[in-house]
Amino acid sequence: MSAIVLDGKSLAARTETEIAARTAALMARNGARRPVLATILVGEDPASATYVRMKRNACARVGLESLALELPATTTTAELLDHIAALNANPDCHGILLQHPVPEQIDERRCFDAIALDKDVDGVTCAGFGRMAMGVPAYGAATPQGIMRLLRAYDIELAGKQAVVVGRSPILGKPMAMMLLNADATVTICHSRSRELPTILRSADLVVGAVGRPEFIRGDWIGDGAVVMDAGYHPGGVGDIELSALKHRVAAYTPVPGGVGPMTINTLLLQTLEAAERAAR
Ligand code: NAP
Repeated sequence: MSAIVLDGKSLAARTETEIAARTAALMARNGARRPVLATILVGEDPASATYVRMKRNACARVGLESLALELPATTTTAELLDHIAALNANPDCHGILLQHPVPEQIDERRCFDAIALDKDVDGVTCAGFGRMAMGVPAYGAATPQGIMRLLRAYDIELAGKQAVVVGRSPILGKPMAMMLLNADATVTICHSRSRELPTILRSADLVVGAVGRPEFIRGDWIGDGAVVMDAGYHPGGVGDIELSALKHRVAAYTPVPGGVGPMTINTLLLQTLEAAERAAR
């Protein structure tokens, strides 16, 4: 069987062209006001700094402006809440990205939930999650939303399919499961206390790996003809799923890198543009 490679890198590049054109059209209508994404980085974690830089570079490529807040590792919850409140009140800021994780003295959930719903373009608030889960319009969490966009772009049928999501984090596994459920898949969510993971996975039509451990999901746990979405990215260029063992016998898979990762940033750009378009109405 020759598997379809779900090429997130190419889809993201194509969508960037569309986002750039829509951004230019919006600015032509609204007196040249450029859409603005505020990025908040707390502390000096090198991986987080790299992710924020990649997001800012992506904004620049499509003509969105990014407003960078770099706060010291000693920032308190109250201080971070003040910054978020100021951005919520700033009519020139259309989207807010608070880079996860924040230093441990900060109440991350409280800070996420302080982001105004109409600026929650990374889809991290409880209110946004609840609305999305109920099928009410809301910005989806960027990584699972990017996965859904990739599945749609390749016309992967989800209705009635057995989907297994491995991982239940607030930014990935849980919203992923709700999005698949809303697309009429039959969804199983697995986590660190799940038993018989290989047995559960073997009957899956679609597997989402969101575990955070390199190649934790072994190739022989996944059945022939499945669709395999791997959110992980680890040193050595491997994901959370042992892809090399199953590329020849699945229906479709996301490469690592170049699958899910580019779609996450692309979704953040798209949702920032949508927020700016709504603000201009
Ligand atoms: P996370 O918050 O650490 O969550 C990991 C999840 O995996 C948890 O729900 C955990 O279960 C579960 N888990 C851990 N050990 C397990 C085991 N032995 N069996 C089954 N489940 C297990 O991670 P995350 O933020 O969701 O990220 C997951 C992966 O996606 C990582 O590889 C990360 O790098 C990647 N990621 C990629 C992007 C992107 O843009 N491409 C964005 C975000 C994340 P418990 O809840 O029981 O602890």
